[in-house]
Amino acid sequence: MNRLLFRLTFGITASAVLATAAYFMFRLPDAAVFPGVTGPRATTVVPPPVPAQWSQYGEGDTSALAILLTDPDSAWLGIAHGLKTMGVPFRITTDVRQALQHRVVMIYPTISGRVLDQQSLQAIAAFPRNGGTLVGFNVAGGGLEPVFGFENAVDDRSRAELRFDTSHPVAAEFTDPRERIIPINSRERSTNDMGVVSYTNPRFPPLATYDNGTAAILYRPIGTGHAYAVGIDIGFFLLKGYNNRQQGIARSYVNDFEPALDVLLRLIRNIYRQGEPDAVTLGTVPQARSMSVILTHDIDYTESVRNALVYAEHEKRAGISATHFIQTKYVRDWNDDAFFKPDMLETINKIAELGMEIGSHSVSHSRVFNEFELGSGKERYPQYQPFVRDAEHTDRASVLGELRVSRFLLGKMTTTGDPVSFRPGHLQYPFTLPQAMAATGFRFSSSVTANTALTHLPFRLTYGRETTAQSAIYEFPITIEDEHKPRLGDRLPQALAVADRLSRYGGLYVVLIHPNILDHKLEFQKRLVEALKDRAWFGSLRDFGNWWTARDQVTWRIESEGSRRRLVLQVPQPVNDLPLQLPKHYRLVKTTPETVTTPAAGQTLVVKQAAGRMLLEFETAGTSP
Ligand SMILES: [Zn+2]
Repeated sequence: MNRLLFRLTFGITASAVLATAAYFMFRLPDAAVFPGVTGPRATTVVPPPVPAQWSQYGEGDTSALAILLTDPDSAWLGIAHGLKTMGVPFRITTDVRQALQHRVVMIYPTISGRVLDQQSLQAIAAFPRNGGTLVGFNVAGGGLEPVFGFENAVDDRSRAELRFDTSHPVAAEFTDPRERIIPINSRERSTNDMGVVSYTNPRFPPLATYDNGTAAILYRPIGTGHAYAVGIDIGFFLLKGYNNRQQGIARSYVNDFEPALDVLLRLIRNIYRQGEPDAVTLGTVPQARSMSVILTHDIDYTESVRNALVYAEHEKRAGISATHFIQTKYVRDWNDDAFFKPDMLETINKIAELGMEIGSHSVSHSRVFNEFELGSGKERYPQYQPFVRDAEHTDRASVLGELRVSRFLLGKMTTTGDPVSFRPGHLQYPFTLPQAMAATGFRFSSSVTANTALTHLPFRLTYGRETTAQSAIYEFPITIEDEHKPRLGDRLPQALAVADRLSRYGGLYVVLIHPNILDHKLEFQKRLVEALKDRAWFGSLRDFGNWWTARDQVTWRIESEGSRRRLVLQVPQPVNDLPLQLPKHYRLVKTTPETVTTPAAGQTLVVKQAAGRMLLEFETAGTSP
């Protein structure tokens, strides 16, 4: 980025850098390479996609949310990834009887006489009457209309918004205008519009309506039970956001609040808590702090290298870690001169010694990275020499080349270890990126803005940004950046206002500051850290990514004995500061093995060091559920 600046300063920096590097480096016509360095040796093979199986999520005790899957070809993977993000325990099943043993059951993606037999439909109809919570998606028949309280389900393709009635307890927390109304399709009608269902003649005031006032989500209390009918395919919508295929739905691009997916996930969590007295969920922020902040820097310009050290020194003084994404630029081209040189290596090592993470910001930093071929997996330094001709053209480049070679150089030429985090130049996002990152050893991506992903929470990526196969890569989208107007230093209040809004539900706040200058940008960073440090968790992408992926593997079940509840946690990968959100009537009695737990805000308990199998025992007598 900052191409204008590159061009203005190109003459001075190019000659200075060339002079110092000339004696040490071996120069090819377009490249400055380290003599004798070559690699990576091994070939990268990107395996074909393996379609995810719902049965992979088939375990769980009856206190978990049950998802009765009525069509395995649906977008259930979006629901699975979304619920994992939200920390809601769930189990997917195709067995009606098994599903109805749970107290909260979601039937997805559709309820009709075509996918469920008469006996199943009758059992489902009786479920909320007997105290269960039933959430039906696309209730398109099967005679269950009276159960949910509507007359007909009508298909519609042109609805743009969902509007919540916050007088419903499960929607009461959506007090922000951007939560109360969320976009579901682009304002400009297109053939990509997601179809929805509206429910006619609702017997009770709808929980949510569409922009034309018709019912989108119905709620009907039945004795102690609850019935919800949902008209939008939340799994499909989640994948639209997660796969960055939203095409004009988001209300802003960056530096703003766009919680569309978060609202839907929080809604499901609230419905789950309402219907399940033993609902235990995981918080989204280490130590149960109000939000996670990841400061990141993209070093894609000669002057940035030296400045990055100044940012790192501030971060060190503030007692936090941040991520510095480095472009390993050894080819001189339209963008800039080569700057991945001995003096830069020294600076990178110093930044790392201050406790900062070093990530990759690609080799070529091309504006057309999103159009690159996947590549052969044999791209090697120094033969791999991508050349940016201009904004529209880059020669001899590939996705695997950018990943393999930048990772090799940072791992080999610095003391910082192999990088695990990647961010593309200009946030250009090829469809092959998730699988290419996984195949080259990366783990954490920060490649999109939170607004275009429609979420301020991390999420797991899919292969090819498609709907069927999962990827091992997690995405941590960017909320605040420094290239839009007004200049960064003049918009701290707006940035803090966004932080306030997502800190209400444990959001992720990734900040991108290019260290091309110090001045108002460094000042912004200092004031931001000062303003947030008392309530936010701060760390690098690697720190947070490690925490997040370990959290993602945690599973649990509840054992009941009279008024006692035993929470059996399985933690395959040790994780610190794990927040457990507990039912109101739980009172901790003991933990085995003995471990430090800290009561946090509300009903949250933080387990200092979670590992292996752990038992937390609670008493529920004398308190009311
Ligand atoms: Zn960049």
